[in-house]
Amino acid sequence: MKRYKKVIALTLSAAMLAGCGFTDRRSEEAESTPSYIDTTTPTPTPPESVAESVTVPADKVGLADSSIPDSSVAAAVEPTIEPTVVPQEPLIEDKMLDPNYEFAGESQVHTDPAKLYTNRYANANDITVCVNAGHGTSGGDNYRTYCHPDHTAKVTGGSTAEGAIKATAIASGMEFADGTPERAVTLAEALLVRDELLRRGYNVLMIRETEDVQLDNIARTVLANNLADCHIAIHWDSTDWDKGAYYMSVPQYESYLSMYPVSETWQKSNALGDKLIEGLQANNVKIFESGSMEMDLTQTSYSKVPSIDIELGDKTSDHSDEALAVLSKGLCDGIDLYFAANPKNPQQAVPAEAESSAAGDQSTEAVPAEETNAN
Ligand SMILES: [Zn+2]
Repeated sequence: MKRYKKVIALTLSAAMLAGCGFTDRRSEEAESTPSYIDTTTPTPTPPESVAESVTVPADKVGLADSSIPDSSVAAAVEPTIEPTVVPQEPLIEDKMLDPNYEFAGESQVHTDPAKLYTNRYANANDITVCVNAGHGTSGGDNYRTYCHPDHTAKVTGGSTAEGAIKATAIASGMEFADGTPERAVTLAEALLVRDELLRRGYNVLMIRETEDVQLDNIARTVLANNLADCHIAIHWDSTDWDKGAYYMSVPQYESYLSMYPVSETWQKSNALGDKLIEGLQANNVKIFESGSMEMDLTQTSYSKVPSIDIELGDKTSDHSDEALAVLSKGLCDGIDLYFAANPKNPQQAVPAEAESSAAGDQSTEAVPAEETNAN
């Protein structure tokens, strides 16, 4: 963990991310030269963000320094009038599907790269989250891939029937009631989640940042397996009654649970899903029933890291900018909760005191963990 100075600056505004243009350029410059930002640049801000730059004592910044989830950091932020020094922007690299990655040979569509953002802010926590904006692979439904890495049949129905051996490599997605394609909304949400995760100190593997990226579901999953610590695929469901958010949990069939690599990841995947639902519910997002539904997905079947397909609503759900910002905060709060409970490195374990304080901030009394444990 790098420390810059006793007092470092943390810009809570999207202005830092958009205003500095890091989405558009490589940021390999200025290794030691702090840059300055123009806080007058008007940009949309996420719900809990501060419109202007503020400075935060280094010991109050994020997971890496204080080992507390970000949700409790907001309360610690006290704006000052000190000059704003922006910590170094993330390093952004293209990552193609390496044919040597396990299961890479099962992918049919993989001619575009994903983008890996390596966090170089002072609160960088060395945890990489794969953010997968569902769909958005033009022509992907012309290809078929094996549902399971061992080529056995699917154990549940879904968009592909139970018993099928192969499924569409990647579906084109649904259309919202107002005609907006699902892929556009999953992309908008993924970009919000990316910026919020970077602000909280995570590295981010972005599967897709444009309308069309040629990576099928297996390619996306294999990239996450090799470059990330967890994988979150963002979707909205094809029902039309504003059903609320839920995640696709791992089907509880003996044959499925014992199949590699599901055998090694299924409990962690369900735990991740539960935490995402907890984070969403704490932000007053409507939740569908218990918050999970068992589904045999290609993504689940090939995942070697905790991996979740989350459905954030359906065709008739609000997908305004405001709604997407709330969903982004909920997802990131859930990711914080997951890694606080399941630290990547033992030294990142949350001290009991900080954990209880963070839990209070999350209003977890609304969702006892046991109740969301559908599995
Ligand atoms: Zn979808």
